[in-house]
This record gives sequence, structure tokens and C-alpha cells, in this order.
Amino acid sequence: MDEKKIFDIAIIGAGPAGSLLTMLLANQGHDILLIDKRNLDGYPPVRHKACGGLLAPDAQRVLASLNLNLPNDVLANPQLFSVHTVDLNTGLRRDYQRFYLNMDREKFDRYLSSKIPENVCKEYSAVVNKVEYENDLYTIHTGTGKTYNSKVLIGCDGAGSVVRKCFFTKEKMPFKHYYAIQHVYKCDDAGAKYYAIFDKTLTDYSGWAFPKDGTFTIGMAFPDGADGNRLFAQLIEKMKNDGLSIGQAVNKEGSLLLRPDGYPKTFSKNNNTLFLAGEAAGYVSPSSAEGFSFAFYSACALAKSFEKGGNISKNYRHETRKMRIKLFFKVIKAHLLYNQFIRKIIMVCKIKAIR
Ligand SMILES: Cc1cc2nc3c(=O)[nH]c(=O)nc-3n(C[C@H](O)[C@H](O)[C@H](O)COP(=O)(O)OP(=O)(O)OC[C@H]3O[C@@H](n4cnc5c(N)ncnc54)[C@H](O)[C@@H]3O)c2cc1C
Repeated sequence: MDEKKIFDIAIIGAGPAGSLLTMLLANQGHDILLIDKRNLDGYPPVRHKACGGLLAPDAQRVLASLNLNLPNDVLANPQLFSVHTVDLNTGLRRDYQRFYLNMDREKFDRYLSSKIPENVCKEYSAVVNKVEYENDLYTIHTGTGKTYNSKVLIGCDGAGSVVRKCFFTKEKMPFKHYYAIQHVYKCDDAGAKYYAIFDKTLTDYSGWAFPKDGTFTIGMAFPDGADGNRLFAQLIEKMKNDGLSIGQAVNKEGSLLLRPDGYPKTFSKNNNTLFLAGEAAGYVSPSSAEGFSFAFYSACALAKSFEKGGNISKNYRHETRKMRIKLFFKVIKAHLLYNQFIRKIIMVCKIKAIR
């Protein structure tokens, strides 16, 4: 590719937000460069994104509305399940029905990437380490030593967004930083449960455990600065004492996770030429860490904002208003749900539990 070429739009990150946004903007006729550090078109994948891979009904609805039909091989075993919620401090446990699709996250991202129109220039296996803005032009520097130029820059690069770090350092962030640790075990038990785990002595967030295609994953998110590895070891001990039978971990992974803690805002700058979408902007549920639906909503909102033209930043604020209000309600819900007393009442009264 000609490194001197100037793209209309450069999108950093080909996760759910970046891939969907690329599809929508390419269909509007923009000349797009999509960069990701993962190798989403080839094998082996160089990096793996730690994730539960559960597609919530809201996210399913967006895909369905865009005729993005999920193929079978993206789905994982099992499909229909309840979530066993356990409070390790009070010993309370309840089962709740959920309507997630259980997916292989890597295959899901590859599927979305495969739907990107041919005329998009994809640069995969390229880590963006710096972006500069000068003379109305963005210069993107990658770890391979290559640089790229574009008139518009969109950061869809997830929780640890380089774009956010380069351009929004002085802004107050309406979210907190967490670190999620996941250990993957071999598991042949077809009846293994899905868990949502609460333990306020370990974290003010939550843990999870789930079977997927012959494996069993246990994870928990810890606040920035906590001794996650020590606390995670305690979680494993507690889960074993709770009756969970697991052997040696076959894989250990971790990921930054943002948790909204205020009214979510839109990130835009430089006269309608710089935007953040998806988790890079903190759009992820603070109660369940569900992020696909918010990645999709924000991608659709930004694509629509470009389509409208004029003041794109203003359009983006308008188009994301409903989503941001929804997220704000989830912030309030999270404060209630993570209050042990209120959770105890909900669980004792079996509100919404399977009876
Ligand atoms: C442990 C864990 C479990 C989760 N489970 C679920 C779940 O089950 N269901 C759900 O809905 N949500 C879940 N989430 C949240 C969900 O993963 C995110 O909200 C969602 O992936 C956000 O999509 P995105 O496209 O905005 O960002 P991401 O999916 O994070 O994608 C960002 C992309 O940018 C690329 N990138 C990042 N930095 C660079 C760089 N410097 N250079 C080049 N490329 C870069 C990455 O490789 C990646 O492809 C989970 C999160 C965590 C941490």
C-alpha cells in the first residue's frame, strides 16, 4: 500500500464497534483504512481478546436489523442456559434465565471482519502506538514502522484506546478502570453451569464462570490498583470450596475493562474529524460488562451522523443520547445491584429468579 496516500477516514480497532462502523461508512462511499493489531483475516491469530462471548438480545437485534445473520460456526456450546448467581459472602444463590447467544469471540470478530467491503484497506497485525494531528491531517504510527495518513480519525480501539490517550488526556473520564482476569480450564461436563459471582471482599465488581466448547472459564474484574492475582487465587479457592471441581488452568488471560460511573459523554474533537466509539468511549454496561450492544449502537450512531453531514459531533451527541441515557440508568442500577443489602433482598424475594 502507498504510505503517502491520504484516506478519508482511518478507523483504529476492528472489534465489534470498528468492524460494524467500517461496514456502514464504506457503504456510504468513504475511502477507509482499518487498522488492528490482531490478525483477523489470517491464522494463527496473533492476539486474543479475553471475553465471555455472550451476545445479548439488544446486540442480536442490531445484527438482525442489518441482515447480519450469524453462521453456526460462530456459535459455541451450550446455547440455552440459566445463570447461577451466587453471593459468596451471604451464601445466597439463585438461577436467572438469560437469552444470550453463546459465541466463540474470535470467530465472531472474524465473521464481522469478513463482512467488510472489499474496497476497505485493512492493515491487520499492526499495533498503533502513536497518532499525531497536524495541518488538518492525522499521522498514524504503527509498531511495524509504517505510517498512514487520514483526514478523519475514529478510535474503536477498546478499553485501552491509544486514540483516547493521544487526544483526550485532559478530559474528565466518566468511567473507572478495572482489570479482568480469566483462567480457562478443560471441562467435559456438559451440564456445567454459568455463574455470576459476587464477593465484596474480593472486588466491588463481579466474577463469572462459564462452559464453552469443552472448556470452563472463570473470571473476575478488579479495580485498578488492586492485587488482582492474589485476589483471583482466593476466588478460585472459594469456588472450589463452593463445590466447583477444576484442574490446572490451560490458559490465563487478562484485559482492561472500563466501568461507567457517571453520565456517559461523546468524545469528539478537531472540528468534526476525531471521534471515539465502542468501549474506547466507555460504552459498556457497568453492571454486567456487556459491551457488544453499546459497541454496535455507537457505531450505528456515528455512521448515521456522517450520513447526515454538517456538524457531525453534534449529530453524534444527538444520535447517542438514548444510548447514553440507557447507560446512565445502568450506572444507577449497578449501584443498587452491587449494594449487598439490596441484592440480598432481591435474592431472598426471588425477584425475577427461576422458581
Ligand atoms: C473479560 C471480559 C469479558 C467480556 N464479556 C463480554 C460478553 O460476554 N458480552 C459482551 O457483550 N461484552 C463482553 N465484554 C465487553 C466487550 O468485550 C467489549 O465491550 C466489546 O468488545 C467492545 O467492543 P469494541 O469494538 O468497542 O472494542 P474491542 O472489542 O476491545 O476491540 C478493540 C479492537 O482494537 C484493537 N486495538 C486495540 N488497541 C490497538 C492498537 N493500539 N493498535 C491496533 N489495534 C488495536 C484490538 O485488537 C481490538 O480488535 C467483556 C469484556 C471483558 C474484559
